[in-house]
Amino acid sequence: MNPTTTAQRHQNMAAIKGKNTQPEMVVRRFLFARGFRYRIHHPRLPGHPDIVLRKYNTVIFVNGCFWHGHADCRYFRLPKTNTAFWESKIARNQARDQKDQQALAKLGWHSITVWECQLKTEEMRNATLESLALTLRHIYLKDRAKRYSLSEEDNPMMAAEASERSLEPSPSS
Ligand SMILES: [Zn+2]
Repeated sequence: MNPTTTAQRHQNMAAIKGKNTQPEMVVRRFLFARGFRYRIHHPRLPGHPDIVLRKYNTVIFVNGCFWHGHADCRYFRLPKTNTAFWESKIARNQARDQKDQQALAKLGWHSITVWECQLKTEEMRNATLESLALTLRHIYLKDRAKRYSLSEEDNPMMAAEASERSLEPSPSS
């Protein structure tokens, strides 16, 4: 292979990567393009989530596989030197992540973690982002259904609607 071409290709790849794999930006751009609105780096929430979607009661963490110790991930390998140091550092990060997510759950927030490795190739990126959008819609509908069933009992309008529905012929009649 012609070395110039290789060098150029490397440069192009680096440029493309720098632009497209900054993981948090990838997720933010996708969400914005799909009409999801969010705040970033919310200072008052546990763990300072990268992305906060208030309407969906959801926060998103975009995590690097190494620093956050992504389990069973091929991008998470402990360095061969100072292994004990890195091991305990990353274990601390994992424990903190877990604590933050528990605190968020107590405050009524759903937490979603998007891992860096899930955004590596274009194919994986698309699959990850589409499933993120699906998850957000699912969360939204589920939360709404929960509120609806809670308010139904003491809401006569909704009770009336429910009884009208019961007058519709059922498939068995
Ligand atoms: Zn990973």
